[in-house]
Amino acid sequence: MNLKDYIADVPDFPKKGILFRDITPLMLNGKAFQYAADQFIQFAKDKKATLIVGPEARGFIFGCPVAAGLGIGFAPVRKPGKLPREYVSVSYDLEYGSNELCLHSDSIKKGDRVLVVDDLLATGGTMDATVKLVEKLGGEVVGLAFLIELSELKGRDNLRNYDILTLITY
Ligand code: IMP
Repeated sequence: MNLKDYIADVPDFPKKGILFRDITPLMLNGKAFQYAADQFIQFAKDKKATLIVGPEARGFIFGCPVAAGLGIGFAPVRKPGKLPREYVSVSYDLEYGSNELCLHSDSIKKGDRVLVVDDLLATGGTMDATVKLVEKLGGEVVGLAFLIELSELKGRDNLRNYDILTLITY
């Protein structure tokens, strides 16, 4: 199956000059969505993952079917002000300003093998912060899975120590 057929290219969104890769047509197609989830599930099995972690919001969309498919847990990474209980946080720089991501402190058990899932790898900043949250809590990151990789932004260079699966490359 050619998953690219289910990605809509939207010029000048959310700002002029940006070509936005819209994953919602893929989600609307049950067979394509299932095919993508199955690739992630196989990767998680190969890595013997015991927990899936995903950053909001599209990391939830792709991470949860993997967790449910394997009967293992899913832990959400969220922006500040969203998690109701004790959490750890990591800040990272954006082109303009900075961002912070948070993870509930009790998300990771000793010995957990964590697969992190997100929709898209651009600069790798979001994933790098997510990996730091997992490692802060003692989790072992056994792999990173993305639906889409924007290769010219060289996000992989920021994530050199990890095994990365991407299903679509631009
Ligand atoms: P990074 O932190 O620069 O790697 O950006 C990745 C994050 O930005 C992901 O969580 C994506 O959801 C989001 N993102 C960046 N560009 C796009 C796009 O073209 N389509 C969908 N999401 C995007």
